[in-house]
Amino acid sequence: MEYPAQKPASDLEAFLSPFFLGAYGENDELFEKLILEFFRDHVYWRRNLHPEDAPPIPTRVLHSEEYLDFVDRTKTELHRLTARLKTSAPFFNPRYIGHMASDLLLPGLIAHLVTTLYNPNNVTEEAAPATVRLELAAGRQLAQMMGFNTQPGSHPCAWGHLTSGGTVANYEGLWNLRAAKYYPLAAREILPELDVDPAAVTRRPLSLDDPDPWPWFNLDVDAVIRLRQAVAEALSGQPAERRQALSDRLEQARIEHLGPMDFHSRHAGLKPPVVMVPLTAHYSWKKAMKLMGFGSAQLVSVPVTDRMRLDPQALDRQLAELKAEGRAVLAVVGVLGTTEYGTIDPIDDIVALRQKWRKQGLDFGIHLDAAWGGYMATLFRQPGGGLRQREEVAAQFRYFPSSDVHQAFAAIRHVDTVTVDPHKLGYLPFGVGAFIARNREITALLGESAAYVFDEADEKADTDTLLRNLGRYIMEGSKPGSMAAATYVTHQVFPLDYKHFGRLTEVTVRNTEYLYDRLHETAERLKGKVRLVLPFEPDSNLICIAVNPEGNHSVPAMNRYARRIYEELRVVPDQPPQMREYFGSRTNVFHHALSEEARATLTDRLGLDAATFTAEADGERSSNYIFLLRHTLMNPWLCSTSEGMNYLDRYCRYLERLLLSRL
Ligand SMILES: *Cc1c(COP(=O)(O)O)cnc(C)c1O
Repeated sequence: MEYPAQKPASDLEAFLSPFFLGAYGENDELFEKLILEFFRDHVYWRRNLHPEDAPPIPTRVLHSEEYLDFVDRTKTELHRLTARLKTSAPFFNPRYIGHMASDLLLPGLIAHLVTTLYNPNNVTEEAAPATVRLELAAGRQLAQMMGFNTQPGSHPCAWGHLTSGGTVANYEGLWNLRAAKYYPLAAREILPELDVDPAAVTRRPLSLDDPDPWPWFNLDVDAVIRLRQAVAEALSGQPAERRQALSDRLEQARIEHLGPMDFHSRHAGLKPPVVMVPLTAHYSWKKAMKLMGFGSAQLVSVPVTDRMRLDPQALDRQLAELKAEGRAVLAVVGVLGTTEYGTIDPIDDIVALRQKWRKQGLDFGIHLDAAWGGYMATLFRQPGGGLRQREEVAAQFRYFPSSDVHQAFAAIRHVDTVTVDPHKLGYLPFGVGAFIARNREITALLGESAAYVFDEADEKADTDTLLRNLGRYIMEGSKPGSMAAATYVTHQVFPLDYKHFGRLTEVTVRNTEYLYDRLHETAERLKGKVRLVLPFEPDSNLICIAVNPEGNHSVPAMNRYARRIYEELRVVPDQPPQMREYFGSRTNVFHHALSEEARATLTDRLGLDAATFTAEADGERSSNYIFLLRHTLMNPWLCSTSEGMNYLDRYCRYLERLLLSRL
């Protein structure tokens, strides 16, 4: 049977054509022209700083032995380097459907290269007079994309900044929420000496007479921020010496000063809090818990549904158990686009559960890990910032977005902090993630100086100005202003709404729907020979495939077969990419990640004996997971019909041949 020569996203092809260098370097002239123009412009800038000075490097050195030798050695090493780079993974090519990488958006790539010539350091405005503001502007653009308010006039006002990637943004989420959750207990130590009524300020039942730490730990972020502001105000009304002494006492009572061990021994009634993440969470959460000194043992995995989304009922049960144990919850993390399966957690349910438990005195921060799926919010965003209705979004797609997915995106504005990766679905070069906080006043809990110093400055300077001292409020120090420039310029050329950036995101989802349908046809054709199963309905632009030879009933044997297929799709270090037809990636679905029912369904669909899918790992013949092929569909040209048949059709053909040849 022939595949239909379908081009599902052809109307978007023309729109997107100028935006990438291209698989064949199709836009090479544009690229060259722009790079050369802005390089020359940079050189003029150098010369015009003090054009009356003579050049410090004399022209005669150009003819010296040393100079020629230097050029020689540099060229040799650059040739060696670029020869090595030829074994790189060809992310730019539509044959690459592996990890979360693709060709790069030209405006960002050029802004990045050009800005590097100026080498701004975004640790502070003094070292980056131009690009710190661009970083904060890019943060606002991303915060708006997520649906947060960014008008300083209304409250709360969000802010965002860039990190080296999603991992560090996740660390910052935990760092910010820790500061918020632990602050009130420290403030309680000086409150008897200040004229602040904590119950009135926080609108929660707090009493200085009650020694129980629980209600102080179970405040929402906004209430904590109100408390801090009231404390700062009360402090600023004190005589200087007393103010200093009380501020020092407050700072010395905080967890950031004491560390978790000392803090908890001072507040004996407070058990170490947990952080809850779905079972599918990125491994950076484990690292974050180790790094913060909480320990990965305090990371609680929330079970997922058979669609690989956080199970809200399980979360509810776990919250009830934790509350009964008197264990506080520092944060619940929801994932918008899981790294392994691209699935979208029910953010709306997490928000609703917080409402429910807040009424019973259990409160927690919500961090949204949208490293992968964050930019998909562009599909739901009106140019003015409003949320698009599901039906309106759905008109461009075959299946997307399910009402669950739409509700998840609609609920983002209620979470406290967010991670999003411009170097993933933002199509920017690696080295740029982002952290966003719904209420930017949370930064006042992180500042590296005492609260009253900050507030004295606060009276004169607005928050915008303060935040330009970026290094005080973020985890990193020196960092490239070029990434801020790249991100900002990209968002300016391609605003983060459905009419602009959203069209690129749209292509990726439409291509995913196309591949989804084609894979079902491939499965039909393979019937009787190989079982090809899509274990989870895609929520975004990522598809996983399970394959098992017909007649095989054992999980380890199936995994060996799938691994042989993957061997043909993977990037091998030192091997030229020309030796591959297509590129894919892999993942596993573990026994413990699935409910008994979901396991039974999956093994049944794959023709496996459920008894061979075990809870225990078993070395070489491991049977506690099912090996999956994983495809990320970022490249915008996957449905381009350069050979009369589009790349995805050709991939299905290839996969079919491969599956039959490795039986
Ligand atoms: C990629 C990813 C991360 C980590 O981001 P890096 O940019 O690789 O540091 C975290 N969480 C999720 C869900 C991701 O997809």
